[in-house]
Amino acid sequence: MSNEVNTECKNEIDEFIKGLKKRNPGQPEFQQAVEEVVGDLMPVVCSEERYRKERILERMTEPDRIVIFRVSWEDDEGNVRVNRAWRVQFNNSIGPYKGGLRFHPSVNTSILKFLGFEQVLKNSLTGLPMGGGKGGSNFNPKGKSDREVMRFCHSLMIELHRHIGENTDVPAGDIGVGSREISYMFGQYKRLENEFTGILTGKGLAFGGSLVRTEATGYGCVYFCENMFNEIDDSLDGKTCIVSGSGNVAIYTVEKALEMGAKVVTLSDSSGFIYDKDGIDEEKLSFVKELKEVRRGRISEYADKFKSSEFHKDKKPWGVKADVAFPSATQNEISHEDAKTLLSNGIKAVAEGANMPTVNEGVHEFRKAKILFGPAKAANAGGVAVSGLEQSQNSLRLSWSSEEVNSRLKGIMKDIHGKCVEHGKTDDGHVDYARGANVGGFIKVADAMIAYGIV
Ligand code: NDP
Repeated sequence: MSNEVNTECKNEIDEFIKGLKKRNPGQPEFQQAVEEVVGDLMPVVCSEERYRKERILERMTEPDRIVIFRVSWEDDEGNVRVNRAWRVQFNNSIGPYKGGLRFHPSVNTSILKFLGFEQVLKNSLTGLPMGGGKGGSNFNPKGKSDREVMRFCHSLMIELHRHIGENTDVPAGDIGVGSREISYMFGQYKRLENEFTGILTGKGLAFGGSLVRTEATGYGCVYFCENMFNEIDDSLDGKTCIVSGSGNVAIYTVEKALEMGAKVVTLSDSSGFIYDKDGIDEEKLSFVKELKEVRRGRISEYADKFKSSEFHKDKKPWGVKADVAFPSATQNEISHEDAKTLLSNGIKAVAEGANMPTVNEGVHEFRKAKILFGPAKAANAGGVAVSGLEQSQNSLRLSWSSEEVNSRLKGIMKDIHGKCVEHGKTDDGHVDYARGANVGGFIKVADAMIAYGIV
């Protein structure tokens, strides 16, 4: 397909973006996500008359619905607490809504709409029958007791259960929502509906969870990165990597990167980052798992324990010289300046484990420099892909072995890589993965919406 865009069409799309900003004031993250995607879709939308005639951009950027509700709960001191929760059911054209729940004080409509919009395209890229959604609450699980988290989750499900279902909407975890929270919510759903069905993914193995779901996003991101290197006859073996975050995605990114022969020298949390000049080995990673998954402690403890490392308070790891960066904490954690620093330090690849971790100006720098840039909707799709596999196992009432799930995950990441190459190869042979992922994810959803008529 040609990348030529005629002026009339370009003006029309500029007007669309202006209208989107006007219709969604005070939603910078949502506007950012749409702008990034639409820039890449322009040649497709302009060359295929039906997308413009059917107003597909306007339709795809308006969620099917958003449910907003109050969650009241009681803390350990007997005080009544009130939080707000959301479920954004963005688009179910190619399958039931699917996407995580995030518990973090920063959660708001804009952040959940950006995540939901990205999820639609990401889920389409996996090749599995999943629509896109996202949800969560401004509840902060940090510093809360298990019982407080339980009471919050139970209260949240009293409302959420009306809006989800195995053929309607199947939420999962995200920031602040791991196996503890999923278990509390699943247990409450089961009581309310008297039904044992796969309405959440990321469940415990004893009650319908899938092997490799915990590891899936991190493993998948590393597989995707390896595919990008293989495309240029190179590999991760021997590469130095910097990873941000120290939660679910970060931990299993490090685990798989080590297996592939890479050296990982950083991890972070919201209080700063650790740099380990000798690299994080399996033993050190076990310490991090216990620290973060069991004790819910701070990453600074790593530097207290391992003498080869140092803690940099309130700093991000992007100034450390490396070959590969795996941003795995949160949105907009790589600023424009950070992106330039990474490039001037000779970064060869960036694989986004977190959702939209790079500001749009930073993405442009990476794409201009033609490094291997794996955008989130492709690189971190392994998590939702294995969630899809968990749904399949629940429907079949079967459990697959970890080898089976892992090999399917690997296959799905390879297929996603293939779609990015198909839609993102440029005339000089370079692969623009961001364009490939946006176009590859868009076509299937847009064509399904058109097939349904004016919906
Ligand atoms: P976790 O809650 O397990 O871990 C999040 C990590 O990022 C923690 O180390 C946390 O530090 C850090 N972090 C969170 N917010 C901020 C912030 N504002 N500033 C600095 N550090 C921050 O979440 P996940 O690992 O599950 O998710 C990480 C990212 O990956 C998110 O963007 C999520 O949307 C994305 N993702 C997750 C998937 C999954 O399967 N879990 C699937 C696809 C994408 P602290 O503890 O100090 O807050």
